[in-house]
Amino acid sequence: MPEYKAPLRDMQFVMHEVLDSEALYQSLPGYEDATADLMNAIVDEGAKFAENVLSPLNHSGDEEGCKWSDGEVKTPEGFAAAYQQYVENGWPALPADPNYGGQGMPAFLGSVVSEMIGTANWSWGMYPGLSHGAVNTLEAHGDEEQKQKYLTRLIEGTWTGTMCLTESHCGSDLGLLRTKAEPQADGSYAISGTKIFISAGEHDMAENIVHIVLARLPDAPEGTKGISLFIVPKFNVNADGSLGERNAVHCDSIEKKMGIKASATCVMSFDNAKGYLIGPPNKGLACMFTFMNTARIGTAIQGLAHGELSYQGALAYAKDRLSMRSLSGPKNENGPADPIIVHADVRRMLLTQKALAEGSRAFIYFLAQQGDIVHAADGDRAKKADDLLALLTPIAKAFITETGFESANHGVQVFGGHGFISEWGMEQIVRDARISMLYEGTTGIQALDLIGRKVLGSGGQLLLGFTSLIEEFCGANTDEAIAPLVETLGKYKDEWLELSMKIGEAAMKNPDEAGAAAVDYLMYSGYVTLAYFWARMAAVAQAKIAAAEGDTSFYEAKLMTAQFYFDRLLPRTAAHKQALLSGADNLMQLPEAMFAF
Ligand SMILES: Cc1cc2nc3c(=O)[nH]c(=O)nc-3n(C[C@H](O)[C@H](O)[C@H](O)COP(=O)(O)OP(=O)(O)OC[C@H]3O[C@@H](n4cnc5c(N)ncnc54)[C@H](O)[C@@H]3O)c2cc1C
Repeated sequence: MPEYKAPLRDMQFVMHEVLDSEALYQSLPGYEDATADLMNAIVDEGAKFAENVLSPLNHSGDEEGCKWSDGEVKTPEGFAAAYQQYVENGWPALPADPNYGGQGMPAFLGSVVSEMIGTANWSWGMYPGLSHGAVNTLEAHGDEEQKQKYLTRLIEGTWTGTMCLTESHCGSDLGLLRTKAEPQADGSYAISGTKIFISAGEHDMAENIVHIVLARLPDAPEGTKGISLFIVPKFNVNADGSLGERNAVHCDSIEKKMGIKASATCVMSFDNAKGYLIGPPNKGLACMFTFMNTARIGTAIQGLAHGELSYQGALAYAKDRLSMRSLSGPKNENGPADPIIVHADVRRMLLTQKALAEGSRAFIYFLAQQGDIVHAADGDRAKKADDLLALLTPIAKAFITETGFESANHGVQVFGGHGFISEWGMEQIVRDARISMLYEGTTGIQALDLIGRKVLGSGGQLLLGFTSLIEEFCGANTDEAIAPLVETLGKYKDEWLELSMKIGEAAMKNPDEAGAAAVDYLMYSGYVTLAYFWARMAAVAQAKIAAAEGDTSFYEAKLMTAQFYFDRLLPRTAAHKQALLSGADNLMQLPEAMFAF
């Protein structure tokens, strides 16, 4: 059973040595309290909570699952008590607005803590995770009364939140949704319809649940332009903030599913439930988009989380499990066989996991910082960060979850047949990881967003914003020891721009070309983006080795892992390049009637 140990050394390396977080937050108004010491102290506490409270509930939660009875949902043993502790320790308030009870720490720090919570127990982390979405929506679009009534309680953690978007006939295409909102004389709305797949829609961990619901007003235009956003509380809330009567929103059932079994996935029926409009009428989807980036980075963290946990399990097993001898002669001469970590193929899998997890960590932390810059800075600085977020978020969401799932599979493989057996916990990681490529926009939908809205839609400007960072890095890093990495990165940067132009030209003649190239383009972009972060980490490691301050083994391992990434993972781009350049015909020519005979 992989027991989670927070990789604090690596986390601190990225936070401080690569991303220089203290200097960043000292330069952002409102975040001056976020010193390195304070951030480290918070991360240390988060690690203890994740390791000691949440990790022991991960496997038992999977085995027990959630139970539905008569509209109520019981979460697995220990989940509610852990949530109580989470609230008592003030974790829900960490990155929230101080005007409503939050601690005003950077959202970046919230992401670092989410990584630890999610790696220890992703299912448990879904409950507070969904609340973050509700908090962000209300912070950005709620009126003062709504903030006092709902936001304060969500930030306190005594209530939790949901995001009710999906209906049985539509998930990706929310323009088709049918849930209705009828205006009432008292200024509220009567919400009716059925939402499916609602995470944390019902549970026994908090006294009230605040549903954030997408619905249509009676005169709303068709499609995405006619969607509005509503608050629908499980219990109505009296003027003094106390709980009133039960609202007409109920959990009809929960789904039986492949993974994240301890996270309740609910069918929610709204039967003229009392709701309150958030933001302007018919602008619901636009309002949702303001926090969509955060939610998508939250799901990218899931890819990192499962990759990291699987790596921790696989590494421990590979050092322990004996099988045959190393091809270059015994390494464990006094034992009957060598541990499997001596074998090149096992190392291939472990290093793939390590390179993906550490690279993804740097990528995600960087992205989370851009969110704080958008929030706290203004002018050109905020605009640049916003542009980077817009471009990189779909890449992070899809690429890190796809490669996180790959990593989880490697973990099973390292365990051999035991990986397939439940008691080791490795197969659970694969099952839990699978959903990350589906919700919050599938990989296919992220890829369309990247190539369509972000790259071609901006006339290449968003991509140029990021490639100029790569160019700047390459120009500034001339140390011979990392020259091969820098040179390779520079070539990829040029090729990425060329490929983007080619897809743009092809799509002008035939729009199907963009869709046909999309996922390969996104994966290509993901590998190049991770190469940038690996090159940055290698540059820091090389500088530390050159300065020879004490034990340099951590930095040497970084350099060797960077080399592995550039030699063995980055070349996967060649296959993606060839596929995306092959055009749309090989996908579109087969008539629908000829798919099967
Ligand atoms: C465990 C779980 C938890 C969830 N939690 C929530 C939640 O809390 N709140 C919520 O609102 N929803 C939630 N969801 C729903 C989830 O977000 C949707 O399932 C997801 O967005 C996909 O929508 P769909 O299932 O309708 O698939 P569809 O939209 O029907 O997609 C089917 C396939 O078609 C592809 N596709 C669709 N359109 C296009 C296109 N234009 N171009 C190319 N490919 C396309 C998709 O990529 C996918 O492969 C959850 C789902 C699950 C399973």
